[in-house]
Amino acid sequence: MKKILFVTSEAHPLIKTGGLADVCGSLPKAIADLNQDIKLIIPNYQALKKTEDVRFLFSLRVDNRNINILETKLPDSHVVVWLVDYPTYYNIPGNPYVDELGEPWANNAARFALFCRVVVEVAMDRAYQDWKPDVVHCNDWQCGLVPALLSLENDRPATVFTIHNMAYQGLFPVSDVAILNIPGQLWHPEGLEFHNNLSFIKGGLVYSDYVTTVSPTYALEIQTSEYGYGLEGLLEYRKDSLGGVINGIDLDQWDPETDASLPYNFSEISLDQKRLNKTALQTKFLLPVKDNVPLFGLIGRLVEQKGIDLILECLPEMMEMEVQFVLLGSGDKVFEKKLQAIALQYPNKMSINIGYDEGLSHLIEAGADVFLMPSRFEPCGLNQMYSQRYGTIPIVRKTGGLADTVTDTLPETLLNNSASGIVFNEASAGSLLEAIKRALILYSTPEYWKKMQVSGMKKDFSWQKSAEKYLSIYDSL
Ligand code: ADP
Repeated sequence: MKKILFVTSEAHPLIKTGGLADVCGSLPKAIADLNQDIKLIIPNYQALKKTEDVRFLFSLRVDNRNINILETKLPDSHVVVWLVDYPTYYNIPGNPYVDELGEPWANNAARFALFCRVVVEVAMDRAYQDWKPDVVHCNDWQCGLVPALLSLENDRPATVFTIHNMAYQGLFPVSDVAILNIPGQLWHPEGLEFHNNLSFIKGGLVYSDYVTTVSPTYALEIQTSEYGYGLEGLLEYRKDSLGGVINGIDLDQWDPETDASLPYNFSEISLDQKRLNKTALQTKFLLPVKDNVPLFGLIGRLVEQKGIDLILECLPEMMEMEVQFVLLGSGDKVFEKKLQAIALQYPNKMSINIGYDEGLSHLIEAGADVFLMPSRFEPCGLNQMYSQRYGTIPIVRKTGGLADTVTDTLPETLLNNSASGIVFNEASAGSLLEAIKRALILYSTPEYWKKMQVSGMKKDFSWQKSAEKYLSIYDSL
């Protein structure tokens, strides 16, 4: 049995801003199910939902500050969670990273540097808890200083760093190097320095024993200039200790047969019930209740990464077609306004819902016929997997985890029952429109459509396989 300290800045259902939380809420449970001794460590944000008992465990002095470590559990599991309690930094309202206007908290570098230093103290068991991990598994830039600082220790645990999104790197001005008291050995261009900035993510990329990304295709893509943000050289240099492990999904939360957010549960043998969810969705959004009109859905952050600009370009032509479109998301204000403006022109065809609503996201996955995910890049992506599980055909661009989890519909994949979606190559409105037209043709052939739905619903998106892969990486270190 291995001792694993799993380090993250968010984990569902404690706190979530995006897919990182889904992974960090599920993967530790799947690793625990493989009989491993795993503990999760996370800042004690004000917004963190503490539904389980919380108790004081021990105190530490780090950077001349008194830090308390509290202990709770990941709901519905035996996974122990250690909360890093330092109210000045973490007991602030709202989002872990940004203020109400979407601006990063001014002291983010200090907040996450302190978190990393506390993790290092815990990982070295300097609070004498008689628990020293064999492996410290860090996620994204917020944890990036952990492998860097641990590299300076003798008799340290092995370190793994998982990149969930290369676009977020934790870059801070060089003046923070002195303020944060970054050890001199780490401050050079092959270390934490990145074009005269302090780069948290480089702490993970340079100093961890093994780097993973959340899909095999993304692991290759980030070694190229198109996806590497200037770090492609470093990633290529590390290619022998860099691999992709595809994310799973939480099959308990995303199961159309038991999902409590759905008015009608269904499975691949009761797809008629799925139609009733479509009716419910149309009714909820005041769209004409028509069974034979294909209903497109989209859920996600409204940012360029997700190809929202491509959707905007396609919409005028798409709205000329016999389709309906429901969108749930928030993000870039310019995208939000443009989408709302177009929706006003097509009240019978389109419904734009700005906000974050988990229940509604389940209803859209269940009620839609087609799910749009034309991402410019996608480290793994979850909604295309939820869609397949819910018999909703995803239209995806061939990138990252989308390429790894959706099988394009071609004569041969229809024949061997693997076709589960529609995949297009180029990040352009023209290619997306072509894919939408292909979807409409397939939709008009119910025999093919049902085949695609059933093969998607039967796919294995469980965490178990991925957890086993992480375990073999831990074993190799
Ligand atoms: P990313 O992490 O890049 O945002 P992912 O597809 O990996 O994208 O994960 C996004 C997660 O957040 C999914 O679980 C998705 O359903 C959820 N999500 C995103 N936006 C919303 C929203 N507006 N309402 C409800 N859930 C959302």
